[in-house]
Amino acid sequence: MTVNIADLAKEFEVAPGTVYGALNDLGIEHDGMAFEADNDSLALIKEALADHIGSKEIVLKTNPTPRDVSNALGVPQADVQKALLTKLKVMATLTTALKPDVVEKLVSQFGYTARLEDAPAPKPAQPKQNGGKKGGARTRPPVVTILGHVDHGKTSLLDYIRKANVAAKEHGGITQHIGAYQVSLPEGTITFLDTPGHAAFTNMRARGAQVTDIAILVVAADDGIMPQTREAIQHAKNAKVPIIVAVNKIDRPDANPDKVMQQLPEFNVIPEAYGGDTIICPVSAITGEGVPHLLEMILLQAEVLQLTADPKGNLEGSVIEAKLEKGRGPVATVLVQSGTLKITDNIVVGQTYGRMKAMTDYRGNRMTEAGPSTPVEILGLNDVPQAGDRIEIAVDERAAREIAEKRATISRAKSLEAPSRGMTLSQLRERLNTQELKDLNLIIKADVQGSVEAVKGMLEKVKNEEVEAKVILSGVGSITESDILLASASEAIVIGFGVKAEPGARREAERRRVEIRTYTIIYELIEDIEAAVKGMLEPKYEEQHLGTVEIRVRFQFSKKGIIAGSYVTEGKVTRNAQCRIRRANVLVYEGKIGTLKHLKDDVKEVTLGMECGLTFDDWTDFKEGDMVEAFEMVQING
Ligand code: GDP
Repeated sequence: MTVNIADLAKEFEVAPGTVYGALNDLGIEHDGMAFEADNDSLALIKEALADHIGSKEIVLKTNPTPRDVSNALGVPQADVQKALLTKLKVMATLTTALKPDVVEKLVSQFGYTARLEDAPAPKPAQPKQNGGKKGGARTRPPVVTILGHVDHGKTSLLDYIRKANVAAKEHGGITQHIGAYQVSLPEGTITFLDTPGHAAFTNMRARGAQVTDIAILVVAADDGIMPQTREAIQHAKNAKVPIIVAVNKIDRPDANPDKVMQQLPEFNVIPEAYGGDTIICPVSAITGEGVPHLLEMILLQAEVLQLTADPKGNLEGSVIEAKLEKGRGPVATVLVQSGTLKITDNIVVGQTYGRMKAMTDYRGNRMTEAGPSTPVEILGLNDVPQAGDRIEIAVDERAAREIAEKRATISRAKSLEAPSRGMTLSQLRERLNTQELKDLNLIIKADVQGSVEAVKGMLEKVKNEEVEAKVILSGVGSITESDILLASASEAIVIGFGVKAEPGARREAERRRVEIRTYTIIYELIEDIEAAVKGMLEPKYEEQHLGTVEIRVRFQFSKKGIIAGSYVTEGKVTRNAQCRIRRANVLVYEGKIGTLKHLKDDVKEVTLGMECGLTFDDWTDFKEGDMVEAFEMVQING
């Protein structure tokens, strides 16, 4: 009989992905939706499934928040809040600490039981309501992100601040690039996120991680507000993060900071000088002029924001960046936002987990503890998490692993639940004409981690103003069936670099019409993808002038047939060209040329100095002396 995986999942009250994972482990063939089994083997499978799925217990810290519960269960936060409100009649925000009896009832709504950590954790901080006095909440350093148009000096500014304030005083100038650093001034400390660019900002926000307190908008004084400046303003506004404008490059002779000031209000950024609340700091990232003032203003803005967190409270933190490093394994930079991260903690980070092998700060110093607003690099995770993933502490390593694995299974299930729609590079164009498909999703598999990173890095740069290549998954190894399933669910193309597809994957790809492309030469790969992205552009046309024709005589050759006897005075005219007809410089007709004859023959084109007979679509009111401007529309982005 055919057994439906979704039905089986319902019976066991688990996500379909759990069943899928179990079937894979047991070596039972399935197509992602169903599998074949007789009665006996189905019984065996169910038994094995029950064993495999095991206990439905989740581990939570004492007084977890609805967000913690949502993360542990791997269900959307909205569902948890809905259950709280409708089933338990409990009003709670995402960060409200929940009582144990509420937690128990809440998780039971999702078919789980909860085990709470033994040690009673202190109540989480509620800084805004109690002014930071109660609950151990303390002032914390602001976390700052630098945004702005390309070449306006984001990197230079970050480098200048780092060099002027960090390197010289620490360890003979050796600093590590871990994706964030801190600057300590007599007035306070500032944490800078070291990855300029909007992508970092938006990717993190897309994953629910809001880590930035203040956005520094860099605008070059010699260039003014440019497209990415506008985008940056929009991002900051969407995230409700205050903006400080650094008007950069004031050392340049052609700098015009006043112009920038005048442009800003157009984008609803009103400088203080104009009665608004945005601080403007003229700076030079090269000479350092104005930078100390900028830092002061950041601290002032931070004071206004009353940023606090409880170092003894529940741990909250987010991954700033993560990668796989040769010899070190998965390396992640985590920003602790609340609570304290200890080297001995068992952590769950998104779908990854582990015991920390090392925790270091941006200076490369080993740490045993990191408090609020501290960025640290951690080693020891089982896999590479994603930027924006939350970090949490589990009671022990086993719990950490189970939570991480459950999330992975659920996310795999989500990708499977999506309808399967294959896609090939050549189909993209058609799809684009009929619907709003704007991203070229890619899955990358490569022979070694180095090539994964290289290919990914290069592909992510392939974009234009309308279409972007997006790497949704990348990894080392051959192309597997599960890559194909994900590709099918997310309309992605699978790219192999120095690797091949497994036979099962190939079959699955054929069935689901997923395109697999394999390469051994990186520029060939990039060229193909660039071509595909170009193809994805909305076709853009431009008028291209062909020539001018003067109408010299009207003659009728049949009842309906009236032809314009003409002479090509410049360029040429082609059949089916578009045209504009002017009489004494006034437009009398715009449309298409119908027939084009030379002597008695239909011809494709007639050139300078030749006579021809023309007709026009639905129009015969031409006169002697009318001038026909012929042109055609040419696609300029093919
Ligand atoms: P990003 O793309 O925004 O990170 O810009 P960069 O920091 O890479 O800077 C782009 C170019 O502008 C580089 O050539 C810098 O040397 C130059 N630049 C950046 N800041 C200043 C500045 O304050 N004054 C001058 N004269 N040049 C600058």
